[in-house]
Amino acid sequence: MKLILLGAPGAGKGTQAEKICDKLGIPAISTGNIIRAALKNGTEMGLKAKSYMEAGQLVPDEVVIGIIQERLKEDDCKDGFILDGFPRTIPQAQALEDMGIIIDKVIDIEVPDEKITARMSGRRVCSKCANSYHLIYKQPKVAGVCDACGGELIQRRDDAPETVQARLVEYHEMTEPLKDFYSKLGKLRIVEGQEEVKDTTRLVFAALED
Ligand code: ADP
Ligand code: ZN
Repeated sequence: MKLILLGAPGAGKGTQAEKICDKLGIPAISTGNIIRAALKNGTEMGLKAKSYMEAGQLVPDEVVIGIIQERLKEDDCKDGFILDGFPRTIPQAQALEDMGIIIDKVIDIEVPDEKITARMSGRRVCSKCANSYHLIYKQPKVAGVCDACGGELIQRRDDAPETVQARLVEYHEMTEPLKDFYSKLGKLRIVEGQEEVKDTTRLVFAALED
């Protein structure tokens, strides 16, 4: 199955992508995580993306399209994948079509802006492996420590309130038109993001069935 997860920053795409990955055994691919890893490793692509990401802006299409083209060639993608954070613009969606990739379903996780702003302040990520947590909704077993690798949990720089606002503006302007794009193709399924992760997961799994 080839899936796309759509939704505002902080809507919980990454968390739900992991759940689908566990259930269906297909890889969850996060362009955000790939870019952050590149930044950390100081690669050329990381350097190109840095200023955009830190300002809460989208990284240029040609950069992320290049990332996805490379990633989808890998062996683990042959039976399907979940795209978390790609596409985020119409040209990115068009690039998938041009690559001949047939997407089965697009799950859009809807969370109102006010809730996004409140949630983002509680988000924490592992400084080593990029797993994500929340001070209230997705607590690690030990406060401040990653369950998966023991790494220190930190706040992402682009989760600062001013940057979150900028990301929401980008989302509404550039990414939301994708709902219409995929709705016209009959692929869009809308899920209302719930307070509890497991409740959203139940709705996401139901949307995968229909
Ligand atoms: P979130 O879903 O919480 O916004 P991500 O980790 O998916 O976080 O993305 C973080 C940042 O990485 C974005 O604000 C943007 O700068 C960059 N980015 C990730 N994916 C894309 C994409 N498909 N197109 C452009 N920029 C992207
Ligand atoms: Zn970790």
